Amino acid sequence: MKSILIKNGWIIDGTGSGGFDGHVRIQGDKIEAVAKTNGDLPVADETIDAAGHVVAPGFIDMHSHSDWALPLADHDICLSPLLEQGVTTVVGGNCGFSPAPFTAKTRKVMGMDHFNLMIDKPLDYQWTTMADFLDRVDQARPLLNMAELAGHGTIRLACADTRRGAMPEHERAVCLDALRESLDAGACGLSFGLGYDPGMYSPADEIDVFCRVAAEAGKPVTVHLKALSRISPTYPVTYLKPHNVRALKEMLDAARRTGVRLQVSHLIFAGRRSWPTAETCLNMIADARKQGVDVMFDAFPYTCGNTTINVVLPYWFLAGLPEAAHDKWMRARLRTEMAVGFGLLGFSFSDFQLMDAAVNEWQELNGYRLPDIAAKWNTTPFDAMLRLSRETRGQAMVLFHKYSGEPGREQALDAVLADDACLFETDAIIHFRGHPNPATLGAFPKILGRYVRDRKLFSMENAVRRMTGASAERFGIRDRGVLARGKKADVVIFDPAVVDETAPRDPAPAGKPKGIAQVFINGVQVVNNGDYISGIRAGEVIRV
Ligand SMILES: [Zn+2]
Repeated sequence: MKSILIKNGWIIDGTGSGGFDGHVRIQGDKIEAVAKTNGDLPVADETIDAAGHVVAPGFIDMHSHSDWALPLADHDICLSPLLEQGVTTVVGGNCGFSPAPFTAKTRKVMGMDHFNLMIDKPLDYQWTTMADFLDRVDQARPLLNMAELAGHGTIRLACADTRRGAMPEHERAVCLDALRESLDAGACGLSFGLGYDPGMYSPADEIDVFCRVAAEAGKPVTVHLKALSRISPTYPVTYLKPHNVRALKEMLDAARRTGVRLQVSHLIFAGRRSWPTAETCLNMIADARKQGVDVMFDAFPYTCGNTTINVVLPYWFLAGLPEAAHDKWMRARLRTEMAVGFGLLGFSFSDFQLMDAAVNEWQELNGYRLPDIAAKWNTTPFDAMLRLSRETRGQAMVLFHKYSGEPGREQALDAVLADDACLFETDAIIHFRGHPNPATLGAFPKILGRYVRDRKLFSMENAVRRMTGASAERFGIRDRGVLARGKKADVVIFDPAVVDETAPRDPAPAGKPKGIAQVFINGVQVVNNGDYISGIRAGEVIRV
C-alpha cells in the first residue's frame, strides 16, 4: 500500500474546529495520521509540500444530478470539472428522481423530461433495483464517490399505475416496499420532487407514509418543495399568500408529524417578487430547529440555476402541443398569461440563458440570452422561446436567472449562504455539450474565495465544515467528511489567497477555478496543479 505525506499545510479538518499547522499521512485509501508538526515528520513513499495551502477533506456536493452520468463509460469527460473544484463525493437521486428502481412501468413513461434531460447521452437502463444500479456504477469505475437517494417520483413511476393523484392502498404498499428495498441496498435517504409530475399530485398523507419509512430506517428525506417562488403552478392562483412559504410549511409539518430528518433542497427564491420571502422562510426553519425538528437546507452560490425551456409554459399549453404552438388563439392567450405571470414573479425574457439548444444546428446559440437569440432570428423573445421549445421538443436547457437575487442585489442569497443550517451544493445538470452551469466549475471555490476570503461572511473553518463534515453527517456517511485517522482519504489542497471561481462572461462560460492545487480520492491523486489527471478513476459507491 502506497503512503503519501502532505506536509507544511494549514489543516482544516472539517469538524469546524480551528485550523493548525500540520501534516496528513495517507496509507492506502485511508488517512493514517493527522497531526500538528513539531519535530520529525513521518516518512512516506511520496511527499507533497502544501506550504501556504489549506488541507481539507474533499468537498461533498449535497445535491447533484450526476448519478445520471456515472453509469456511462466515458463520464469522466463531462464530470471532471467537479473534481477540479475539489468535489470528491456527490449525493445523487435528488428532486424525486433517481435512475433506480427501473421497471417495465418506467419504460412506458420514458419520454418524460426527467429521464431525458439529466444527461445528453442515452442510458441503457440495464438495472432494475437500487442494488443493481449501485453495482452498475461501481462497475463503471466512477470518477468520484457517489451516495444515492431513492427518488419518490421514480418509485411511483416504477411501481404504480396511478399517474396523477392519490394511489390506491395496494399501489402505495408496493411503492413503500420498493423504498425499503432501496434503503436496505444502501441508498442514503429518500428524495421528493414535489414541484414535478408525479410528486406534485401526491397528497399529504402519502408524503407522510414515505417519510415514516425513511425515519424508521434512520435516513433523511430531501425535498424539492412544491413551490420555489411566490406564485407557482402547483397551488391554485386563488391562493394569495406566497406559495413557497406554504410549501415550506407543509414540509416542516410533515417532518414534525413523522420525526424524519429533513433536508430542504436548493432553498432558492425564484423571481424578484419572491426575494422578500427569504427572511420569513429562514426564520421558519430556525424556529422549527429550536422546537427540535431536525431540518437543514442546501444552496449554491449563484443567482441562476439550470432548468428546461418548458418550465415557464403552463400545463394547458403543454398539453395542447404540438398543435398549440401554431394556434393563433392559444399563442395569444399564452402571450398574455406569460406577461402577467412574469410581472407577478418579477421575471423577464432576458432571464433565460440558453445552455444547450439540444439540436446540432443551434449549438452556436448556447450561452446567449433569449432577447439576443430573438435578435439573431429577427423575431420577438416570446416567439424565439416558442421556437426553441417546439423545435427541440422541450429538450432545450436554460439557465434561469433571478434566483434569490441579481448582481448587486444579493441580500437574499447572502442570508441563505451565511445561515449555519445551510450546506453547499452545485445542483448542476452536467451535459457533454453546451454552455455549462457556472456551478459545475466553480461553486465551492467561489464560496471559499468570494464569501469567506473577500467578504468575510463566515469563517474558513465554518465553510469547510459545511462543505464536508456536516454534509457527511447529514447523510449518515460515517467514514468521510473529516480529516481523522481511519477515515477514507478524500483530501483537497487549496491556496486560500487565490481560491475562486473564474466567473462566466456572457456568452462565454465560466472557466476553470483558481487555487485548487491537488485532490485525492480514496488515497489516489486525481487532480494535480488544478488539472484532472486524465484517465484516473478512484471513486466508489457509498452504501449507507
Ligand atoms: Zn430540484
